[in-house]
Amino acid sequence: MKLIVQKFGGTSVRDAERIRNVAGIIADTYKAGNRVLAVLSAQGDTTDDLIEKAREINPRASKREMDMLLSTGEQISIALCAMALEAMGLPVVSLAAWQAGIHTTSAHSDARIKSIDAERIRRELDQNKIVLVAGFQGVSRFGDVTTLGRGGSDTSAVALAAAFRADLCQIYTDVDGVYTTDPRIVPGARKLPEITYDEMLELASQGAQVLHNRSVELAKKYHVNMEVVSSLERKPGTKVKEVVKMEKTSIAGVAKDTSMARIAVVQLEHSPGVAFRMFSLLSQASINVDAIIQSIGREDGKDISFTLPKTDVEEAVRLLEEQKDALGFEQLIVDEKIAKVSIVGAGMMSTPGVATKMFEALYDANINIQMINTSEIRVSVFIDEEDVNAAMRAVHDKFFGDQL
Ligand code: ADP
Ligand code: ASP
Ligand code: MG
Repeated sequence: MKLIVQKFGGTSVRDAERIRNVAGIIADTYKAGNRVLAVLSAQGDTTDDLIEKAREINPRASKREMDMLLSTGEQISIALCAMALEAMGLPVVSLAAWQAGIHTTSAHSDARIKSIDAERIRRELDQNKIVLVAGFQGVSRFGDVTTLGRGGSDTSAVALAAAFRADLCQIYTDVDGVYTTDPRIVPGARKLPEITYDEMLELASQGAQVLHNRSVELAKKYHVNMEVVSSLERKPGTKVKEVVKMEKTSIAGVAKDTSMARIAVVQLEHSPGVAFRMFSLLSQASINVDAIIQSIGREDGKDISFTLPKTDVEEAVRLLEEQKDALGFEQLIVDEKIAKVSIVGAGMMSTPGVATKMFEALYDANINIQMINTSEIRVSVFIDEEDVNAAMRAVHDKFFGDQL
């Protein structure tokens, strides 16, 4: 008997009809003789709506209370779906993360899964029940509910698939697979039959929201057999795996990220240790910096610009301003209207000129590049936020246009 983990995202459970549809997929899998462990997200825009409700009351609410609030969305979904399965006469139980034994760090709003107690879920599965688990949430060692970061239900599903050595982990969503870029923005995007863990991880980390990046990281680490499929149409999706059969194209896909901002620190002293002091201040506050550029040092100083998540800007500015005299800079310039567009592909390691091709596409579309940063299998550019969709289309067309 196979164990299949199935994860259903927000759009897939957005109303009663969609919950029944999901219950139907779970029921079919169960009736085909499999054990089913399903992970559900909050319905539709529930998580965004809850964030808005919190803002109306206290825009600076603690992360602990935010987690108490946001974790409720997933609990609604599993209870409703369990009711739909009960109505079909199937044995089912829904479990919140504390019941399912999903233990995390206590980093509220961005917790990491540390371990999963198999006992309760195993007991329910052994009684032939379908088990529904609330995605996105966990429990800290203090017994408090935590959340895994936006989009984290994918990670809940893959962690469970790894812990229970599931035969397959299916991520059901509102697209029928992973595309060469977001198909909602670029109509010419092509579906990939398969993609490597490494490429998928880079795409997800660079903003392709179809999978939570940590879910891919876990899938790679624990060799989880993973696929992305549509909850609305029954057709083959995309397999995420170690090695793909396809002949390598130079890039696998294009992603955008509009969650970043840029801070320019103007007129810093041009002497050793300045960058160290500045970035250690930020890292001590757990602020992750992405791209960094430094101007050529002059006698009268140098400028350093870096990008960071928009959500960390306020704190970073506060920390830097507090140390203005010690660091010796003149002023900070914050730009929250930037976006990052990235191309990802293992093939670029062996294909010269990939970055140039991307820059040419942006030049043809008259889009100005503000910063560039690269990894072995990725090139990212920072541009004006208003240009982001045009940039995605231009870059995608340049690499994939002739293959349509
Ligand atoms: P869910 O609610 O099921 O978790 P998400 O909204 O988190 O779904 O992710 C699915 C969305 O990801 C799609 O609707 C699509 O707009 C977006 N997306 C971004 N990049 C890609 C890509 N490369 N391939 C497929 N979908 C993508
Ligand atoms: N409901 C959560 C979110 O909207 C988790 C998820 O959907 O994966 O971010
Ligand atoms: Mg998602």
